Amino acid sequence: MKILITGPQGSGKTTQAQMLANKLGLSLVDTGEMLRQMAKNDQSPEGQEVKAEMGRGELVDDRVAASLVASRLSGEDCRNGYVVDGYPRNLASLELFNPEFDQVFYLDIPDEEVEKRLLARGRADDTPEAIRERLALYHQKTEPVLGYYEKAGKLIRIDGRGGVEEVAKAIDEKIS
Ligand code: AMP
Repeated sequence: MKILITGPQGSGKTTQAQMLANKLGLSLVDTGEMLRQMAKNDQSPEGQEVKAEMGRGELVDDRVAASLVASRLSGEDCRNGYVVDGYPRNLASLELFNPEFDQVFYLDIPDEEVEKRLLARGRADDTPEAIRERLALYHQKTEPVLGYYEKAGKLIRIDGRGGVEEVAKAIDEKIS
């Protein structure tokens, strides 16, 4: 089973992806976390470019994101399926590498709620400017990806405003 959990930052996608991967016994592939590790540990020009892009609240280069995810998903622990958090975030990267998801869960949540949650979370890249930048980017770049999965009949919209358990239950009911 190949599953994508998507939604804007602060929608709870990482928490839900972790819970779902545990429940189904599948590998969790957290794209944002892999890129944060790369930014921290990779001293090459490519690694440092990733760090700069993330610091500016931008998406990292499509080729970097696509090849990172492609190589991760080709691993032995992903042979029986995976739960991906955060890839693809635009149509261009989907053309470079398509993870062939069976189901795509979209955690839908209003912008105001996102801002409130993220300011409370206080991660290093959660400055007010970066939050606004990433939300604008989400609407512009990532929403077309939802359209792609909708047309493919794979998109399942979940109301992301509820509590963790409530959202998990809503996802559970739609897993097939
Ligand atoms: P996240 O942990 O999902 O909020 O991602 C944190 C940051 O990592 C994002 O703001 C982007 O800069 C970068 N990122 C995560 N996933 C991708 C992706 N699929 N393509 C490009 N950049 C990404």
